[in-house]
Amino acid sequence: APDVPEVADVVVIGAGQAGLSAAYHLRRRGAVPAAAAPSGTGEAPRTFVVLDAEDGPGGAWRHRWRSLRMATVNGIYDLPGLEQPGVDPEAASVDVLPAYFADYEDELGLAVVRPVRVRRVERTADGTGLLVRWEAGGRSGTVAARAIVNATGTWTKPFWPYYPGQESFRGRQLHTADYVRAEDLAGARVAVVGGGISAVQLLDEISHVARTFWFTRREPVWREDFGPDDGSRAVAMVDERVREGLPPQSVVSVTGLIRTPSLHAAAERGVLERRPMFTRIVPDGVVTVDGDVLPVDVIFWNTGFRAALDHLRPLHLREPGGGVRMDATQVAGEPRVHLVGYGPSASTVGANRAGREAVARILGLLAAEDERLP
Ligand code: FAD
Repeated sequence: APDVPEVADVVVIGAGQAGLSAAYHLRRRGAVPAAAAPSGTGEAPRTFVVLDAEDGPGGAWRHRWRSLRMATVNGIYDLPGLEQPGVDPEAASVDVLPAYFADYEDELGLAVVRPVRVRRVERTADGTGLLVRWEAGGRSGTVAARAIVNATGTWTKPFWPYYPGQESFRGRQLHTADYVRAEDLAGARVAVVGGGISAVQLLDEISHVARTFWFTRREPVWREDFGPDDGSRAVAMVDERVREGLPPQSVVSVTGLIRTPSLHAAAERGVLERRPMFTRIVPDGVVTVDGDVLPVDVIFWNTGFRAALDHLRPLHLREPGGGVRMDATQVAGEPRVHLVGYGPSASTVGANRAGREAVARILGLLAAEDERLP
C-alpha cells in the first residue's frame, strides 16, 4: 500500500509531464520528499510529495492507442534534466514514453506515490492551509499542505456532447479515450465526429478498414505547415482566454490542422469529405442537415477532453463562464493553487515551463509567508 505523508509544504497532484516538471524544479531548488524530511530544528528544507492515480509512470501516455507512434505524435519535449533516449519512430508512444517517465522518476528521485487518487482539496477551517483528501484502494487519508500544484491533465475527463436521440442509438458509441485499434471497427459504417488532430488521424486510420463519414461543426482550417511563431500566437490566445476566466480551448483548436503526407493521401482517397454536424441520432444512424437518415453502426466521438478539476470543487475556483481565472500558472486570487498543464500549458513544452514557473512562485510565496511570522 502506498505510503502517503500527512504533511508536506507542497503537494503535486498528477505525475504526467506537468507534475514531474514541478517535482523536478522543487528538488532543484532544495525541497525534499516529505517522507524523507529530516526532523528537528534548524533550517528545515521545504517538503513535497507527488500523488498520482496511475498504477505506474507515464501519465496519460499509458493510455494512448497503440498505433500512435513516435513518428505520429507531434513532438514530445524532453522532461527537464533528462534527454529521451534515441527511439525508433515506428515504436508505439504507449511503450516508449511510460518507460522514459519511469527512468526519469528513478533517476531524479521525485517522490511519486501511487496509485493514490485525490478526491477533494479543501481550505482548512482557519483558512491558512489546504487539506488534500486522497483515496488508495480501500484506504483514505489527508495531507496538510501549504500549496498545491495541480497537474491532473484532461485524459480522465473525456467530453461527450449531447445530441437528441443519443440514448436510442442501437449501435456502439465510443470516445477517443476508449479507442484501442482500427480492427475493432472493421467492416462497420462509422460516423467520426470532431475536427481536431485525434479525429483526423483516427479517421484516416479506420478508413482503411471501415466505411467512414466525417462530421464537424465547423469547416476545418487546414494549413501546410506550422512555425514557432504560429505556436506562440496560439498559446497567447489561450492564455488570454484563461486570464478572463473562460474555459481554455485546446491549443490545437486555435492552430488548425496540418496536412501531413498521410492526410494528403487520405484526402486523395476521399476520406476527408467533411459533412456538417448531424442534427439528431436515431436507433440506426444519424440524421443529416438535409433531414436524411444516414445508417451507421458506430458513432466515434473525437470531441476532446476537459480539464480534470472536479477534486478542486470545494475551493470554488470556477467562474460563472465555467473556466478558472488564471494569472500565468496561479489561480487568480488563490496564490496557494497553481494549475499546470492547463490551458496555454497543455502541451509537453508548456508543461515543462509551467512546472518551473509554478514552483518559483510557490517557493516565493512560502518564503514571504514565513517572513511575516513572528
Ligand atoms: P497527463 O499526462 O494527463 O497526466 C496527468 C496525471 O494526473 C495522470 O497520471 C493522471 O492519472 C493523474 N491524475 C488525474 N486526476 C488525478 C487525481 N484526482 N488524483 C491523482 N492523480 C490524478 N503534446 C505535445 O507536446 N506533443 C504531442 O505530440 C502530443 N500529442 C498528444 C496526443 C494525444 C492523443 C493527446 C490527447 C495529447 C497530446 N499532447 C501532446 C498533449 C500532451 O499529452 C499533454 O499536454 C502533456 O502530456 C501534459 O500532460 P499532463 O502532465 O498535463 O497530463
